[in-house]
Amino acid sequence: MLQAKIPILDLSHEIEFIWDELNAAIQRVLRSGQFILGPEVEAFEQEVAQYLGVKHAIGLNSGTDALFIGLRALGIGPGDEVITTPFTFFATAEAISLVGATPVFVDIDPATFNLNPDLIKERITPRTKAILPVHLYGRPAEMEPILALAGQHGLKILEDCAQAFGATYRGKKVGTLGQAGAFSFFPSKNLGAYGDGGLLVTNDDQVAETARMLRAHGSRKKYFNESIGYNSRLDALQAAILRVKLPYVDAWNQARREAAQRYNQLLADVTGLLLPEVSEGHVFHQYTVRVLKGRRNQLQKALAGEGIGTMVYYPVPVHLLPVYGLPRGAFPEAELACLEVLSLPLWPQMSPEVQVRITRALQRAITA
Ligand SMILES: *Cc1c(COP(=O)(O)O)cnc(C)c1O
Repeated sequence: MLQAKIPILDLSHEIEFIWDELNAAIQRVLRSGQFILGPEVEAFEQEVAQYLGVKHAIGLNSGTDALFIGLRALGIGPGDEVITTPFTFFATAEAISLVGATPVFVDIDPATFNLNPDLIKERITPRTKAILPVHLYGRPAEMEPILALAGQHGLKILEDCAQAFGATYRGKKVGTLGQAGAFSFFPSKNLGAYGDGGLLVTNDDQVAETARMLRAHGSRKKYFNESIGYNSRLDALQAAILRVKLPYVDAWNQARREAAQRYNQLLADVTGLLLPEVSEGHVFHQYTVRVLKGRRNQLQKALAGEGIGTMVYYPVPVHLLPVYGLPRGAFPEAELACLEVLSLPLWPQMSPEVQVRITRALQRAITA
């Protein structure tokens, strides 16, 4: 029997579910004639700030822009060092380099895939200005020790929340734990637009004002530019789409957690795999297993042969990419994770039957 392919991500269910609301929102923007910033973006900024429990939300062009505008607004620049993880999407470190600072990597805790707080202290120097933790795969980083270290050493914290919209750490939304938080609305993220988009959030009035100035060519007042900024504005169509989706995001994150739980049950007896913990506040942007004994690539290929899409986030740790070019062995846990991780298909409306098909194929492939 020929079976339909299962992609790693299928947005069609979500789009069908909110089809009428999306159409109404898009038509509202078309009729308004206001396409860049304007009332739709302001309304979204207010709604998302309220959802996250933060004073300021600034709509930007992308998550990458939110990271580097956030760093600049926090006063990070040439000569400064920023501590971050090498096991992340390139944009995390790229943003640090883009503002002229130097990324200083710290290895991950293999159990969480996030920054290992115990290894941060030894990397702090007189030049260190900030820590940039990433909440990878939707799992909040272990923030308490990171916040304590930042307090002791007078460091700023910018959270990379690109994969963790709605995730909570000890009851507080990620992005609101440090001085600022950066979010991405890339279509595949937990709260995704249908194009590029990003957001910076902060409780600091000064940081918010600087970020608003930077996103509009360094001007507070049109044509009175006061510094070299960027063209990095959220557009009204994306804001209107995000306003439709925001009220559903908690239910969708909960559905992701339930799908992750179901995967863990279905895969509990499979040997040669390490399954992710359904930890507190985790919103499962990705459901990522570790495939042991060097069998990850072979397993991925076998699943592809059965029409099942999977992804490796990420095949190369950032410190080994040629632009940073640090020696192999520098961050062994990140390097090992890159050889073992495999993300399985996951979306909120995914049916248990699809998960059964995926896990059966996986079991067959791993015991073959
Ligand atoms: C997606 C992502 C980004 C970048 O977001 P864009 O909106 O694509 O620019 C940054 N960091 C992490 C961890 C991401 O997953």
